[in-house]
Amino acid sequence: MKKKFIVLGVLFATFGFTKMNAQINFGDKAIGAVQKGITGFTFSNADAAALSKAAVDKMDTEHEVASATDPYTLRLNRVFGKYTAGDGFTLNYKVYKLKEVNAFATADGSVRVYTGLMDIMDDNELLAVIGHEIGHVANHDSQDAIKAAYKKEALMDAAASQSTTIATVTDSQLGKIGSAIIDSKFSRKQEAQADLYSYNFLKKNGYDVNAEESAFRILAKMSEGTEASFIDQMMSSHPDSKQRAEDAKKRAEKDGLYKPYVQQKIVNTAPAAKTTTKKATTTKKTTTKKK
Ligand SMILES: [Zn+2]
Repeated sequence: MKKKFIVLGVLFATFGFTKMNAQINFGDKAIGAVQKGITGFTFSNADAAALSKAAVDKMDTEHEVASATDPYTLRLNRVFGKYTAGDGFTLNYKVYKLKEVNAFATADGSVRVYTGLMDIMDDNELLAVIGHEIGHVANHDSQDAIKAAYKKEALMDAAASQSTTIATVTDSQLGKIGSAIIDSKFSRKQEAQADLYSYNFLKKNGYDVNAEESAFRILAKMSEGTEASFIDQMMSSHPDSKQRAEDAKKRAEKDGLYKPYVQQKIVNTAPAAKTTTKKATTTKKTTTKKK
């Protein structure tokens, strides 16, 4: 154990990851784990949230985040801003200015949406995708994912070696955990349940539930086209778009809500219309006002 710690130490020194170590207090549980072995370690939701937040904070510093006045941010404010109070958790959100088609949500309730996704999804479809991602948080899939990532990085070894009450997560480890969050592979069952969450989210808030099927059709189509490389990440963590589109359609049919979805205009360039607290079902005219 000690030897391993020294090797790790040398590795970190070599890469020079010294400036930003996140102090995450796993306290007594880390010590308990040493006594009981890693399998006895319980990773609470609070632990998952703390580690996720540290990983997301790091990603935020490494990606170009759209500013508060950026049209993409304004659009996300308008579309999603009113839904940050999740079921027993609070969500925060930001836009990453990246061409990739992707979005993810983490155990601490951080939602990150890529401009590449916002470029191809209308408001309802965007909510369908975000609804799916926050479904993973609500269903605790995200907590399980970060726990797995943590174990994989063998942080327990480091924590045990230090024999202190603080587990120090290095910058490089956080980076790997961040990548693991983005690439999280969930089971088919978890995906189906997150899809159902999204469907119910749309339905509950008065949106056209058929946007879910449409969002998956777009992803399925893209994966076959020339722009496939832009959706690699999303497809690797979310395969079977065609099947999921079919499932979404069946759900809507069963509810008597099915109607082929027509994509609405996607506007990421103009400032959003004034945000109001009106019901989600309110249709808003698109303004052509230039910034
Ligand atoms: Zn998913």
